[in-house]
Amino acid sequence: MYTCGPTVYDYPHIGHGRKYIMDDILRRVLEQIEGYEVNHVQNVTDVGHLVSDADEGEDKLEKGAKKSGKSVWDVARFFESEFQKDMDTLNILKPTTVCRATDHIPEQIALVQKLVAKGYAYDTPEAVYFDVYTFHDYTKLFGQKLEEKLVKSRDEVREGNYKKHPADFAVWFKRIGRFENHTMHWDSPWGDGFPGWHIECSAMSIKYLGETIDIHTGGIDHLATHHPNEIAQSEAATGKQFVKFWIHHAFLMIDGAKMSKSKDNFYRISDVENKGFSPMDLRYFYLTAHYRKTLNFTWGALEGSRYARQKLINEITVLENQLKTEKRTALSNEKLQKVNAFSSQIKAHLCDDLKIPQALATFWDALKSNIPSADKLDLIYDFDTIFGLRLREDTGKQFQKISDIPDSVKLLVSEREKLRAEKRWDESDVIRLKIESLGYLIEDTKTGSNLILNSKKSLK
Ligand SMILES: [Zn+2]
Repeated sequence: MYTCGPTVYDYPHIGHGRKYIMDDILRRVLEQIEGYEVNHVQNVTDVGHLVSDADEGEDKLEKGAKKSGKSVWDVARFFESEFQKDMDTLNILKPTTVCRATDHIPEQIALVQKLVAKGYAYDTPEAVYFDVYTFHDYTKLFGQKLEEKLVKSRDEVREGNYKKHPADFAVWFKRIGRFENHTMHWDSPWGDGFPGWHIECSAMSIKYLGETIDIHTGGIDHLATHHPNEIAQSEAATGKQFVKFWIHHAFLMIDGAKMSKSKDNFYRISDVENKGFSPMDLRYFYLTAHYRKTLNFTWGALEGSRYARQKLINEITVLENQLKTEKRTALSNEKLQKVNAFSSQIKAHLCDDLKIPQALATFWDALKSNIPSADKLDLIYDFDTIFGLRLREDTGKQFQKISDIPDSVKLLVSEREKLRAEKRWDESDVIRLKIESLGYLIEDTKTGSNLILNSKKSLK
């Protein structure tokens, strides 16, 4: 399994979290339900990814370096480590192999040489380009006609561009013209320069996984350019099918809008933690939508996920306590069948194109059913090895019950309810902040009633 990894020029945001958690669940399902041994390779893009996927603009890493005043290498290593920290925070399994583009320059040069020798790529004064018209099936992944792609990119064609066709893409950039001061550069048969972004994925996936791989994942934004380019490069070079199964993850929206720094709706994992949420609440939130469906993030929805996850944790506490006094007895045939039916239904959902929301729903049904406590507990622990919500680790942490809440806080809650009923949102938000500053969090339920869940301090 090859998963397109991060371009390490900035902090990861919660949209990245969704993509990598979906890859993580896929891997866990393949390993733990299907019984496969997964060789999971993920790249780190630390050179050659331009601001536009269509060879326009500057290198993202150079841009990041300018912005921070650090060297390109420092920027790359810093954000690679920030990325890894966030992945650990989200309980995402480390890929079997993590490979950096800059550690694989000879492999990329060798692949470009092969493409030039076979007539798929051509040398120009500014770059070596892949000629999309030489590859029989360039458009097969995204289904768009090449002519449409040409029209679309025609506006963006730069002056002095030596491309034969606008859809051709760079496999090697030369250190001249707009790139004459490019910091990262290597010798090549075409002179001093650096690899295009797409070639690293072909070169490294061939190196670590062979010429044909089973699964390749990436964001839906890679469907029209990056992945068709990977296919073209790999299949032109090897003459073999590159990927058997493609998985494309849909986007995360924020309050119904696209996440962007200018809109101030750009959240990092640490922003979620700073608001008093556990990263595992975010993980639960990601599980509430299918990977091919756009998921809309709101703070309210995240509170809903926190509520659900805490219910699971509370359930574990109750079940564990029950089991201290109850003995595990042999199941009746009927109960045994019921337990097995729940378990295989959850697995069936997960193995059916990762229907995680359905799997979660069945999981909740099982917990509400009359199967014995011990079996419920087994079910929770078993499936948490796939959901990855760290339920066992967080059980036993003290969550306050409503009855433990001081009167002063209860008063604020009822004040806020009144304001909400009158749709005085701004004022109700002020009270919410007051309540939060006292260490409590509010859950707004569908019926409008408010529940206080726990103390912020007890969460961490
Ligand atoms: Zn890639």
